[in-house]
Amino acid sequence: MTTIADRLALAQQRIAAAAKNCVRNPEEIQLLAVSKTKPIEDILAAYNAGQRYFGENYVQEGQQKVEALQQTCPDIVWHFIGPLQSNKSRIVAEYFDWMHTVDRAKIAERLNSQRPADKAPLNVCIQVNISGEDSKSGVIDKDSMLALAKQIAALPNLNLRGLMAIPSHADENQLAEELSTMQQLFATLKLGYASVDTLSMGMSDDLELAIANGSTMVRIGSAIFGERDYSAKAN
Ligand SMILES: *Cc1c(COP(=O)(O)O)cnc(C)c1O
Repeated sequence: MTTIADRLALAQQRIAAAAKNCVRNPEEIQLLAVSKTKPIEDILAAYNAGQRYFGENYVQEGQQKVEALQQTCPDIVWHFIGPLQSNKSRIVAEYFDWMHTVDRAKIAERLNSQRPADKAPLNVCIQVNISGEDSKSGVIDKDSMLALAKQIAALPNLNLRGLMAIPSHADENQLAEELSTMQQLFATLKLGYASVDTLSMGMSDDLELAIANGSTMVRIGSAIFGERDYSAKAN
């Protein structure tokens, strides 16, 4: 039987091997452990194995976990990676350190005004709808990315850190093309903003290719925590 600590170590090895393959420093690539639907004990198991970055998709569930762990694990860095309705933005602004899915000015403005004054600016990534699928959120091209970046950069309680994408997995060629386009968009954004250092891209099944295309943060859930059970889930 493998433990969460074993699977975490395996994920780190995959990242290191992928980095080595494309002559990158593995330390440039963060592992974000996606703990959505998983219990506190699982997060603690990963924490005790050294993991500090955790990603959550659901606002209420995330809030409960942050509250439950803030005494025991004050150095966890919490990332919100799910779709966000504007009426729930306050919870993200108050409880999370990072927000990966900013896709419109309205959300950015709400997060900025709701960020508590005693907290560091909220780190944000702009979500890019790289596959162009209607079902996915995100800005759709370079111009809309740059326009949103400009709006975010003007908000004092947000810190623009980079881009996030969920590519389609329709076929290999399309995936490669999407990841490469993301790398170009990231390079363009970096030119304009010194704070930009994060390309949040790559999941369990495409992390090698994502790293070859410049990803600096891969988001891994089931490969660490096992398959998810959504049956008991209420958002
Ligand atoms: C759930 C989720 C992940 C992790 O997916 P796994 O297949 O469990 O590795 C990564 N990114 C986002 C945005 C997610 O919602």
